[in-house]
Amino acid sequence: MKKNVILCISLILITAALSFYMKWDSLDLDNTVIFSKDFTLTQLAEKNNVPIKEILHNLSHEDLSVWEISRKQPVKAVITNPESVREAIEHIKEHNQPLKDVIKYILWAVYLSLVLLFVFRYKQIKKIRVVIMIAVVLLFGVALGATPNPMESLVKLFKLLNNMEGNPKVLVSSFILFSIFSVIGSKFICGWGCQLGAIQESIFNIPIFKRKHQFKIPFVLSLFLRLTLLGVFLALLFGFGYGIVIGVKNFVIYHHINYFKVFNLHDLALVSLYFLPLFVLLSVFVYRPFCQLICPFGLYSWVLENLAFNKVRIDEKKCTKCGKCVSSCPTEAMKGIYSYKRKHFLPDCWSCGICIGACPTGAIEYKRKS
Ligand code: SF4
Ligand code: SF4
Repeated sequence: MKKNVILCISLILITAALSFYMKWDSLDLDNTVIFSKDFTLTQLAEKNNVPIKEILHNLSHEDLSVWEISRKQPVKAVITNPESVREAIEHIKEHNQPLKDVIKYILWAVYLSLVLLFVFRYKQIKKIRVVIMIAVVLLFGVALGATPNPMESLVKLFKLLNNMEGNPKVLVSSFILFSIFSVIGSKFICGWGCQLGAIQESIFNIPIFKRKHQFKIPFVLSLFLRLTLLGVFLALLFGFGYGIVIGVKNFVIYHHINYFKVFNLHDLALVSLYFLPLFVLLSVFVYRPFCQLICPFGLYSWVLENLAFNKVRIDEKKCTKCGKCVSSCPTEAMKGIYSYKRKHFLPDCWSCGICIGACPTGAIEYKRKS
């Protein structure tokens, strides 16, 4: 407990420091627009401290060909209506909410610390968790929005490596934070803090569809699909392997299956919109289908599980081998912990704590290695 208190205090301090660091440049953003028709797009972006891609993104609502224009010539020479550039910058500044992101990261750190320190003291976590998952959807999803989120932190890092877009300071800091959130407990941000994970689990928890038809995805299948998708993503992003064969580069496949956008529906890609009913239906019968079949961050946090400070542990002396923990687990995680010989790279454990309450002899605890 004492070590976890130190861990949580460090987590909150590191998160506060890193989140202010990454957003510092934009925190003092005033809404004054610096504009001249003689400036190039690059100069305008720099002087107003807004990403050039966002200016182009705004302008592209009217005319898609803006993506082709030169960024090095004065806007009056390359854009038919230069005033639209001023309006785009005004719009971006109005909607830029750096403070919201800082608050979100710090709230995550405080909330995850409270879960680690207090929720695992209860044996019957299942009921408390149902309420907490709904609260996570409302707070980190509905109120605080689709971004930042763990999946985008990883995908944007690859885009940065491909020189596509993004501020290195923001992207690297965000990725580090989500990595730290993942190792304080096994897959902790996924299991307790992710807005998309929580919405899937809340659908899964709807009691009307009692667990009669629950289906556990075989871990091998889950791993295979996530790895394959990651491979296709990298090939189409960097334009190698499969990308060369079909002549595609800079294509981000995860944009088209990014269900975090359900918290920002008008940004949801058409493919995801068409498959939304299937996604919801699947979540009724399968525990976190997006996490288990698609999410690249889930794959990354599975690797980080091997470094996790806290995780589910079985006390062999108290265990009577009744197997109730295995059947209560919504995935193959407990089957791995309970019966596999190896200690590493076991099936993903979401730290849900359900197995703890299912054990009749109290042999399971969520703790650090003793
Ligand atoms: S695996 Fe699931 S919980 Fe984790 S980041 Fe992806 S969507 Fe969220
Ligand atoms: S082993 Fe299964 S039931 Fe136990 S915490 Fe992990 S995912 Fe939940």
